[in-house]
Amino acid sequence: MTAISKRTFLKFAAAGAAAVPASPLLAADAKAEPKTHWDTETDVLVIGYGGAGGAAAITAHDAGAKVLVIEKMKDGGGNTRASGGGFIIPKNADEAYQYLEKTFLFADNEMDGALVRTFCERAVKLPEFFKRIAPASKLRVTGHANYPYLPFAENITKYRVGGHQPGGIELFKVLRTAVETDRKIPVWLGSPAKELIREGNTVVGALVEHDGKLVRVRARRGVILACGGYEYDPQSLQNFAQGTKILGLGNPGNTGDGLRMAASMGARLWHMTSYSCPLGIKDPGCKAAVFVTMMTPNYIMVNQDGKRFCNEAGVDFHGFIYAVNPLNGVEHKYPAIPCYIVMDEAGRLAGRPTHFKYGYAAGIEGYHWSEDSSAEIKSGVVKKADTLEELAKLIHVPADALKAQVAKWNADIRAGRDTEFGRKIKKTGKSAFIGTDVPTLSAPLSEKGPYYAIEAYPALLNTQGGPKRDVKARVMDVFDRPVPRLYVAGELGSIWGSIYQGSSNVCEALVYGQIAGESAAGEKPLS
Ligand SMILES: Cc1cc2nc3c(=O)[nH]c(=O)nc-3n(C[C@H](O)[C@H](O)[C@H](O)COP(=O)(O)OP(=O)(O)OC[C@H]3O[C@@H](n4cnc5c(N)ncnc54)[C@H](O)[C@@H]3O)c2cc1C
Repeated sequence: MTAISKRTFLKFAAAGAAAVPASPLLAADAKAEPKTHWDTETDVLVIGYGGAGGAAAITAHDAGAKVLVIEKMKDGGGNTRASGGGFIIPKNADEAYQYLEKTFLFADNEMDGALVRTFCERAVKLPEFFKRIAPASKLRVTGHANYPYLPFAENITKYRVGGHQPGGIELFKVLRTAVETDRKIPVWLGSPAKELIREGNTVVGALVEHDGKLVRVRARRGVILACGGYEYDPQSLQNFAQGTKILGLGNPGNTGDGLRMAASMGARLWHMTSYSCPLGIKDPGCKAAVFVTMMTPNYIMVNQDGKRFCNEAGVDFHGFIYAVNPLNGVEHKYPAIPCYIVMDEAGRLAGRPTHFKYGYAAGIEGYHWSEDSSAEIKSGVVKKADTLEELAKLIHVPADALKAQVAKWNADIRAGRDTEFGRKIKKTGKSAFIGTDVPTLSAPLSEKGPYYAIEAYPALLNTQGGPKRDVKARVMDVFDRPVPRLYVAGELGSIWGSIYQGSSNVCEALVYGQIAGESAAGEKPLS
């Protein structure tokens, strides 16, 4: 969120307000003004128009509240629209809980059992939500549990809304129709919330930039923060992730505004260093990175020393960041940020190394990676060389190390076992994401060029950090007391930790969006 300029602030202060912006600096001055002036009023103000905001708006409206949705970008959808749109629907809430609680143990993240249990109970009922808001919509199976060895994994099935377009686009279409067409809920696009407005410690509205002006929106029942994570906020990336070399795959409007607004009310922030983060490729001309999805066994990944650093096909893609982020304390660098995908001709011809429809670049900006990567070779995003020595020069890694690494990989795979990282030869078990499987996971690279290399970076699907909530989606303060009339839903302050079950973020946005909408609508209106 950009800071409010002095001129804008003076304009605000001149209009006067007894209800004050939550920032202490502004509050001190604004308090001097006795008169309260509001530009507009609603019952429930929803900040952010993605999956959580859409579900919250629908539910608050259906509970009888007057709702206003504000969205920072010129179009709605957020990460939800750029996503695969996958959500889990467990068969049984109790068994799903027993499966999901184990995922917190992997990284020893804080788990709030009541939040996870509520999630499970409401996730089971998602088909009813879709039936209510879009009776004609059809749900389609897209995958299964990411951790099939955990107890009750068979309970987890992933779905998406059917249709010809990517899952996120189809999902947001359903939400948008329910919000704008069926319920006529007003949506202000291109209208970022700048600050919360409070009376004492109660949130009573927000300061919103709308049509080039700062307007004060009063929320008689409550304000819902549904404004996503900090994927594109350099300051947060430097403080809570591994710095600004981490790219984003989703909506560029997710710049941590909700963190700041919640913090201004004394919220307790949690899961700040948890993310869902595969690899991405920078492509000039796109705001977002392009999502790496390897559809060939004929590749390895190496760091800047020309060495492999992980089981490339075994890392759950949501957690790839944890494979590349170690900081070398001797050399003082991240040796695998960036890292390099190295493949042979068979690898190139097996299909594009990126997801062709998911992500902001492919789904919203319309970037299409060429099927055989020929366009990207031409643009220089994919480096091509006849020998490994030449390839090493192009990507600035030691040639001897790269040649030795490829020789080791080839010898291992020909002998039937990756002795370095245990990458499997064949895929086994049910698919976690149908459509992104290859039956053979590992193959030796050709002894003959050409070879190809692509620079790759960790690239965020989403961050999980933000204000902690309770089962009513109320924002909790640093002493775990609810901040009056402030709610939160979605990936902002997600209930999930660092290693999580895929398709649980969209599900969470829909589940806690509904809960936030119900809770805010249930508040007694301010007089
Ligand atoms: C490529 C990709 C694929 C993914 N696939 C899946 C998947 O299949 N399943 C899954 O579970 N998860 C997936 N995810 C993650 C998932 O999409 C998100 O975590 C989830 O959609 C978040 O929903 P949300 O409503 O909380 O946030 P968003 O959908 O991001 O909505 C937040 C909105 O708030 C707006 N906003 C920000 N600041 C302000 C402000 N100051 N004022 C007003 N508006 C503001 C933003 O512009 C945005 O539109 C994927 C993510 C990506 C990028």
